Amino acid sequence: MTIPAADIHSFLRSAAVQDINFSFNSHPVTGHLLDQLANLFSDTPIRGRIRVTTNPAIVGGPRSRTQAAWDPDRDKINVRSDDILDTPVGSSYFLQECVHAIQDWRSVDMRIQVAEGMAYLAQTWYLLNSPPGSVAAVGIPRDMVDVARELRHTYRTTTRVSPAVMTDPQYQRVRQSVLNDYGYRTGFYDNDGIRGIRRLR
Ligand SMILES: [Zn+2]
Repeated sequence: MTIPAADIHSFLRSAAVQDINFSFNSHPVTGHLLDQLANLFSDTPIRGRIRVTTNPAIVGGPRSRTQAAWDPDRDKINVRSDDILDTPVGSSYFLQECVHAIQDWRSVDMRIQVAEGMAYLAQTWYLLNSPPGSVAAVGIPRDMVDVARELRHTYRTTTRVSPAVMTDPQYQRVRQSVLNDYGYRTGFYDNDGIRGIRRLR
């Protein structure tokens, strides 16, 4: 089983997702990119599509909070369950992997703390756009919430024309949060583009 592409299209084009617009050290996460990304999800095996498969074993152990994982080698999002898009919490995890898909699609190698910082900020921004309690339900760290709130405010008060540009102090707070709160190591993610069908199933 998997998720119908039509459900992913509506999710990525929903108001709560389209509102997300920021730039992280010149790497953009925008409603426009997320809208474009939606076109890469297809139920038919076409070249350059992104697949979604339900595979709890790959996502993490039963105690892991994570509900989805991006597989850059197979251009695939593995999800813990088929109903991931039915709740704001599940949707936020799916969105975080969509940000990794954008990074891979754009073929920009980046530091882990930048790649994860972008993904967690997008997830948090989405949760801020969701019903009250959603941020707490995921347990987003304080600094991540504050910076996402600030960027969201910046975007909304600049007439929603251009993405909110992160300041250096904001970058440092997100970077520290990724390393200290989430426990990521420094290093690089290799992104090589969405290459198409390598294995049919
Ligand atoms: Zn991530």
